[in-house]
Amino acid sequence: MTKTNIPEKGAIIQRDLETFSILPHIPGGFADPALLRKIADVAEKYGAKYVKLTGAQRIAIIGIREEDLDNAWSEFTDKSKAIGLTIRSIQMCPGTWSCKRAKQDSPGLGFALDKEYYGKPAPAKFKMGISGCANGCSDPWMKDLGFFGTDSGFTAVVGGKGGGTPKLGQAIAEGLTADEAIALTGKVIVFYREHGKTPERLGATIERVGFDAFMKAVS
Ligand code: SF4
Repeated sequence: MTKTNIPEKGAIIQRDLETFSILPHIPGGFADPALLRKIADVAEKYGAKYVKLTGAQRIAIIGIREEDLDNAWSEFTDKSKAIGLTIRSIQMCPGTWSCKRAKQDSPGLGFALDKEYYGKPAPAKFKMGISGCANGCSDPWMKDLGFFGTDSGFTAVVGGKGGGTPKLGQAIAEGLTADEAIALTGKVIVFYREHGKTPERLGATIERVGFDAFMKAVS
């Protein structure tokens, strides 16, 4: 039987149609040395072909056999997974933690959102990007929901995406505090869960339902 992704095991089938990749949870790509060692140990122990830094600030362990998936995951303290129809890993720039250009604490907001939403269900993949300033190093304009920092707070952007039919999002609010950004995120996700039709992304849902109706729902 042809093997496919196994979402409940966070396993993505590889080109060989035999082995899988798994992606340990690394919020915003901020990994301490112990987690990096653990990833290397798991890759070595279970005979991975290699590890790969992904565009979503994760590290894929590639080439795990199906019979080893449970044991490989058991090695990690944080076993949360986010593939398929879920809220995916949230991209974050270093923001005020280390970047001299930062206007706002992007990891602070990103970690709060990660804690609440990482791996939770959605009508389709739902991506977020949080940047500390308008340079947008975590691509907030290319995410279903993005935030970037300004002198007055966070600006929120919705409806962007990458992929084969890329789309820039549109700004819907500015000058938000982190708490206001978190509250807005909750409303956007409720709207998407209520109105989204798999596999459409948030931008397509907003277009179908209407921008005014969307804004009314999230205001
Ligand atoms: S978006 Fe701004 S704050 Fe974040 S890393 Fe880029 S330049 Fe620095």
